[in-house]
Amino acid sequence: MIFRSLETADLAGKRVLVRVDFNVPMEGGVITDDTRLRSALPTIHHLSSRGAKVILLAHFDRPKGRRVPEMSLAPVVAPLSVLLSQPVLFGEDCIGEAAYRAVTALENGDVAVLENLRFHPGEEANDPAFVTELAAIGDLYVNDAFSAAHRAHASTEGLARLLPSYPGLAMQRELEMLDAALGKPVKPVLGIVGGAKVSTKLDLLNNLVRKLDRLAIGGGMANTFLAAQGHDVGGSLCEHDLGDTAREIMASAKAAGCELLLPVDVVVAREVKPGTTTRTCGLDEVKAGDLILDAGPETVKRLLAAMDASKTLIWNGPLGVFEVPPFDMATVAAAKHAAALAVAGKLTAVAGGGDTVSALNHAGVAGEFTFVSTAGGAFLEWMEGKTLPGVAALEA
Ligand code: AMP
Repeated sequence: MIFRSLETADLAGKRVLVRVDFNVPMEGGVITDDTRLRSALPTIHHLSSRGAKVILLAHFDRPKGRRVPEMSLAPVVAPLSVLLSQPVLFGEDCIGEAAYRAVTALENGDVAVLENLRFHPGEEANDPAFVTELAAIGDLYVNDAFSAAHRAHASTEGLARLLPSYPGLAMQRELEMLDAALGKPVKPVLGIVGGAKVSTKLDLLNNLVRKLDRLAIGGGMANTFLAAQGHDVGGSLCEHDLGDTAREIMASAKAAGCELLLPVDVVVAREVKPGTTTRTCGLDEVKAGDLILDAGPETVKRLLAAMDASKTLIWNGPLGVFEVPPFDMATVAAAKHAAALAVAGKLTAVAGGGDTVSALNHAGVAGEFTFVSTAGGAFLEWMEGKTLPGVAALEA
């Protein structure tokens, strides 16, 4: 895909509508994690320092097309202003008179946040009339919210069709990294897919087996594959009704020349409780009432060797119940090894998806991966091979 570049854009004096992800965790009007605000800073600085009038558009929570005061974006203004070291204006609405007033008050280099897009039903409906109203207050459009790019909303898709459009710097980096991991990766490419259920990751598994050289399956979903191969998984989380599906995925992998790495040993316990008694055993030693809660040491050893033999890693989903030690062992060992290879320049290690980010943070190595996407749904849809409307609309 070819995109216009912000580097070469003529920005001075231009009103630039920037779609950002300010859907931050908030308690009682106070932001508890400002990662998303920080992610937008490079693009805001870039635009502001080149004399653009920066108009930030975002959604917050799910007001479902109504004005809900508790879902106002006003609480982001002060923290953003501190992070930017410059005043930030607030527009009480994202369209109409209030938006127009806020935008006309801007001098070159100034920054404004406009009120929650989702106070208007036209946002999620991608209503052309709403898109036209948004476009009326801008000259250019920048999308820096990859995490919202799987939705064809007015601010993520519609606007890109009306105004000259550009990916923001965070969006651009995300697209480059995703391309390096799955679009045009350096081979061999290893995938790790873990997490709870096969049923939520069917499209993802089917896409990956066609693209990767090796795919390691872990977590609860590995149990479904083991059961489909005839192993007794005791009382473990397992989708027994998906046996045929698991066998089909194994057949597709074989046909595509993708080597599947399934657990060869497991860690079991009788309950999911920190510090509970555990047992490491082979696949045919799982007893009735046992819960498989982590991958065993031999499985981990094979996974680390597969990383050593790969140039690219793409990872979604933990290998065990990492929230409850000691069932974090396989996930932490794999994360640390991937991080060390990435730091040594031997592996492009890209990971993403909600629980994956927490798992890598838990292992203390998220910062050492080549790239960790915090995009959740958009990251998963991209891993499923789907076209993201917010990305497709930016194509030059
Ligand atoms: P997902 O959202 O599908 O990536 O699933 C993440 C969740 O899967 C985490 O909360 C893990 O605790 C859980 N999980 C991983 N391995 C297992 C397992 N063997 N049994 C039950 N849950 C697991």
